[in-house]
Amino acid sequence: MSNTKAQVFYTSNPEVGQLGACATMKNTLMGQVVEDADLERFNAVPDDAAIILVAKHLAAKLSIPQLGAIIAHEQGHIDCGHLIKGAEMVNAAGLIDNLSFELEADAAAVSVFGKDTVRIALTLTVEAVVDYLISSDVVPQDDRDDVLEFCNTSMEQRYAALAD
Ligand SMILES: [Zn+2]
Repeated sequence: MSNTKAQVFYTSNPEVGQLGACATMKNTLMGQVVEDADLERFNAVPDDAAIILVAKHLAAKLSIPQLGAIIAHEQGHIDCGHLIKGAEMVNAAGLIDNLSFELEADAAAVSVFGKDTVRIALTLTVEAVVDYLISSDVVPQDDRDDVLEFCNTSMEQRYAALAD
């Protein structure tokens, strides 16, 4: 599985929308995440292969290098074996939440795109996810700044590693 570039799919799936982007095993996906236009390509991916999902709302807000940084981060999770190592940490959505994995995946993205691009891409991702949560009525509009603050606080160690 490692050192294979994962197929990237863009999706409006709400679970992916709440994350911005994720790497996952095709055969752990729950429900319909890939849209009709991509189904044929998706079906051609082996069931035991890793894939990368990017929320359409996020992709729309990123420049090409920033999008590349996000995809490189997710590819980093795959190359570092996180999908296998983290199998016991998978949450209800079939996804992994672990700071050391995030730092390692960020470093992989930095090796390709540099710290500045990765840091900005992460900042825009947090903003996009917060906007998405608010627009989907999960969070009241008035709480936007609090949620953004909370998300950025949870990112502090990652931003610190990306500082000059
Ligand atoms: Zn990650």
